[in-house]
This record gives sequence, structure tokens and C-alpha cells, in this order.
Amino acid sequence: MRRLLTASILALAVATSAAAQDGGSPVSTAPEVAQESAAHAEPTPASPETATQPSVQLAPPQPSRARPAVETDEGGLWGMSDRAEQEARNSGQLEDDVALNTYLRDVACRVAGQYCGDIRLYVMNRPYFNASMAPNGYMEVWSGLLLRAEDEAQLAFVLGHEIGHYSERHSLATLRAIRGRAGAAMVFSIIAAGAGVGIIGDIVYLGTIASVFGFSRENEAAADLIGYDHAVAAGYDAHAGHKLWNNLLAETQASDNPDTRRQETRASIFRTHPLSADRVEALTERAAQANGGETHRERYRAAIRPFLDEWLRADLRRRDYGQTWLVLDRLAAHGEDLGVIEYYRAEINRIRRGEGDRERALQHYANAIAQPDAPAGAWRELGEYAARDGRAAEAAAYLSTYLERAPDAGDRALVEARIAQLAGGGQ
Ligand SMILES: [Zn+2]
Repeated sequence: MRRLLTASILALAVATSAAAQDGGSPVSTAPEVAQESAAHAEPTPASPETATQPSVQLAPPQPSRARPAVETDEGGLWGMSDRAEQEARNSGQLEDDVALNTYLRDVACRVAGQYCGDIRLYVMNRPYFNASMAPNGYMEVWSGLLLRAEDEAQLAFVLGHEIGHYSERHSLATLRAIRGRAGAAMVFSIIAAGAGVGIIGDIVYLGTIASVFGFSRENEAAADLIGYDHAVAAGYDAHAGHKLWNNLLAETQASDNPDTRRQETRASIFRTHPLSADRVEALTERAAQANGGETHRERYRAAIRPFLDEWLRADLRRRDYGQTWLVLDRLAAHGEDLGVIEYYRAEINRIRRGEGDRERALQHYANAIAQPDAPAGAWRELGEYAARDGRAAEAAAYLSTYLERAPDAGDRALVEARIAQLAGGGQ
């Protein structure tokens, strides 16, 4: 489906129609359009305040844009965006936790200003730093981004950046530029090549989209400054933007993979949003003149805390331990959530099996279980290490604690058998 979307974008890019002369200006708002957009919006749970005080209840924000006519190129972009949105809604990767979605929508609206009513936000459980906002107002925020933003101000900046692409209609400009440059034959050969790809992973997806649909450097610089202005106007820390981009560049350099370190932009938002040193400089300079602003670090951390375990587990599956290690260091900077963080440091050591990793794994698991938020898995791994070292009684004790802390563990039968085996003198 993603492949289909890419192909559709290409097809649209070469399509010639009378609509191409249309300037892309919004058509007048029709009531049925507003209704249709409103129907897309996810229900927001009513708060007790609004229920008891109907006089303060506000109408839901209205979209700032009407749906463009279907025969225009912009209408075509909206149609493709609708399909991508449907795909996201049906995706097994959709994170539908109400508290998290409500929180993120609030932050997005705070920076979106007049575009608040346009946004339909979806959280996707994908372990890469990425966000996007489609021309129809459908916005994706990936869990890998939420794991990496250090505070609400950084999140607000990156959402403001995406809203900047949306408000300036950069996708439409990109589409028209492709149509202007590419010969139809070449574009159709790319479509054919894309259709032959069997498995499209997130990296390939990002790369494919970027190769045909990345934003220009000018658009990126413009979106950065719009994101900056919106976030600062909403009261956020002016330094969030350049800190975030610098953090991502540092993570690129921390990669285990030499290709990633060289290419700088693999598997990240920079595939579709090319980052240059100029952009970081421009944001740094702009922030130098600013004072004040809130990071809202603590409430951001509170919002993502319930997901740290799951998102770190997913991040490990990328098998780039240098990068995950840096993410863990950043999460540990304020001394919070150390049980989860130490557990995943141990997991990296256990899985990597490099020189000295075994001893380090044992140490990090031991650090983890000294914390109140240690995942139960820490006791299981300590039990396995103890069993392999011939300390049967200690191993059985660790494994029993594991089962006490994770009564619904999927491997309960296996672990119970293991404990029985250890009690019988086995290893
Ligand atoms: Zn961008």
C-alpha cells in the first residue's frame, strides 16, 4: 500500500490535466466538506468540566481549508492522502492509547494555531524518528520520534515544522517540480521498479518516498523557521529545534553501521527532510536572540513513560546498538526510569555478546532490579545466567521472582519447568 502510494504520487506527477493550471488556491468552504473532515476526526473524550458547564463548551475547531476539486492536482494529492490515512487507521502499528493521543493532539494544536482544526493525528508504533503531515491534514507521529524528543518543546518544534510544510503547501510544490523535471518514461520505469519490490520495510519506505518526494532545501529551511516561530509563540523553549537536530546528528554518528555514519540520513526523518548544517545554524542563531520559554520536560516524560519499555524493545529490533545506547543515555540524563533504562543497557550487552558484554550485562541487570521500575525480564535473565554458572538455588529464586512479577508471562510454563529442573539438580 505504501508502494502503491509512491507509485500514485509518481503517476500524478506525470499526469497532465487542465487542472495543472489551477493555482492550488483553496476553493470556497462548502458545508459538506467541513462535515466530511469533521467525520475524520477521532472522538475526544468529554471532560467532566464541559459536561457540567455547557456554557463554556467550545465548538470543535473547524478546518481552515476546504477539499480542493477532485480534478485538480491538489485534489489528487488529497485523494492519495486519504488512502494513506485509511492505511494508517487499519495498520496494526496504530497506537490508540487515549491519554497519549489526547496529549499529542493538544501539543499539536498549541503550535498549529489556525490549522488546529485541520489536523488528524495518528501515533504509529514504528521505531524510527519520523513525522509527517499530508495535504489533507492527516498527521503521523512515529514512536521512535517520541522516544527521542527530550521534552515537549522539541516535540512542538518538530510538529510545527510539519505544520509549516502543510501551511505552505510544500507537497504540492514538490509534485509540480517533479512533473516539470521528470520525463514520463523515466517516472514510469521507477513505478515499474517499485512494483517489483517484495518487502518494503520502514527504511526502504523512507528511502523510496524521499527519492521521489523529499522536500527541497529551501522548503526545509522555511519549515524550520515556521516551526520555530509557532513553537516560540506558543511559549516553548527557543533552543529546542537546534538541540533536537543536533541530537539526531549525534545519533547518526553513534551508529554501529559505517554506511549510516557516512550517509548521515539513513532511516531518519532526514531522508524526506534533508538536513544541512545551514539549517542547524539558522535555528541556533535565531534562538540566540530569544529569552525564556518552557521545555515542559516533566509532563512530556510523564506522557511517554508508560511506553518506554515497549518502545525500547522495538528500538532494539533495529539492531543498531550504538544508536540505542545513545538514546538510553539521553533518557537517563535526569536520573528517571532507571530500572527500564538499566534493563535495556543489559539487554544490549546480552544480545551483542562482545568482549566483556557478559559481565556488563550482569551488572546492568543487577542495577535494574535495585530500581522500583525494573521490568520483570531482568530477573529472568539473571536466573538464566545463574543457572549457566551452576548456581541452581539462586537461579530458581530469580526465576520465581520473575513469575511473581509477571504472572501472565507468555513463557510461564517454560520457566516453571526450568525451576523444577533446577530443583532436581539440573542446570
Ligand atoms: Zn521538513
